[in-house]
Amino acid sequence: MKIRDIKTFPVVIGRSQLIVKVETDEGLYGWGESGLSSRELAVEGVIRHFREFLIGQDPLNIGALWQAMYRSNYFEGGRVLAAAISAIDIALHDIKGKALGVPVHQLLGGKQREYVPLFAHTQAPMGPQLLADARLLLDQGWNVIRTWHDEPDAVTQRRYEPRESIAATATWLTKLRAEVGPAPVIGVDYHHRLSVAEAASFCQRMPPGTIDFLEEPIRDETPEAYASLRTMTDVPFAIGEEFASKWQFLPYIERGITQFARIDVCNVGGLTESMKVAGWCEAHYIDLMPHNPLGAICTAATVHLAAAVANFAWLESRTSPTEALGFADPAFFPVQCQQDGPRLIVPDLPGLGVEFDEERASHEEFAISRANHLRRPDGSITNS
Ligand SMILES: [Mg+2]
Repeated sequence: MKIRDIKTFPVVIGRSQLIVKVETDEGLYGWGESGLSSRELAVEGVIRHFREFLIGQDPLNIGALWQAMYRSNYFEGGRVLAAAISAIDIALHDIKGKALGVPVHQLLGGKQREYVPLFAHTQAPMGPQLLADARLLLDQGWNVIRTWHDEPDAVTQRRYEPRESIAATATWLTKLRAEVGPAPVIGVDYHHRLSVAEAASFCQRMPPGTIDFLEEPIRDETPEAYASLRTMTDVPFAIGEEFASKWQFLPYIERGITQFARIDVCNVGGLTESMKVAGWCEAHYIDLMPHNPLGAICTAATVHLAAAVANFAWLESRTSPTEALGFADPAFFPVQCQQDGPRLIVPDLPGLGVEFDEERASHEEFAISRANHLRRPDGSITNS
């Protein structure tokens, strides 16, 4: 079997997505997805380069093809290349599963769990709606809840002041814990918008036990900065959704900086790289809490990963009683993982168990999504 063609589909399905199809000369094909949101056309360009040497290759030699994509052109790695590698690597796993007649989790060591537990997200502003959302989720069996941070003027005015945000967020998360009691898991995503000092102050404004994880308080280019922050609070961190290789995870795992691995299968280098990071995390008693804000192919790939590893906490879900964003619209993904409340069922179909309607997608207009470009009140640019 040989790779015959690689096609890309930049589409807007609730959000911008880049779907990738790898076709073989035997009629089998695989679906992949890139996770570098809002940079879909850059990833598409890399895939055009990869296509030149991938056509004619055996799609079952996934490990060697991963190495060829990462290492064969001198300028190794980086987020754009890794996102392209991720999409192709996922598609190759889909092909291999179909070729062997087994679900992808069988290629990764087999199923260790019957279903994949999910966490829900609420975008409720810091205020009474947050408490109402939490009650709604708990009533429907969702006991792992992630919140967003306070940003009242971010969308309408593109204004964001971290000190205002940490005051309101700490105040309302403290009320949230008092409201729900000690049992539910509560986390907050700060989307790397804080400095070390701001993140430390935020944690120190809440009583111990208020939150179970703090996601991405600061940017991650400098592990030393995170190591410094690690000494200033005992709140567990959840870091890694932007990491584009095992090497980016290295200091965070080995130095005990992160307590959950927010791995993104569509950014880190696909299932091949994810399994290596997962094993490394297992050795350090770190559970995976995968990033999954994309489409149905990302979700399917991540469910197979989650099924096959021992060290797993919860998978991000953007379909819950508090969210229905349509990223996995069944009109575009007629076959996809089935959700049962706060659980995703592990598919047993050969391959990923997901199908994309490329004919329908070909009629859709793609639009480049623009970032928010947040500014502080003084006009300076801040992290978005
Ligand atoms: Mg996040």
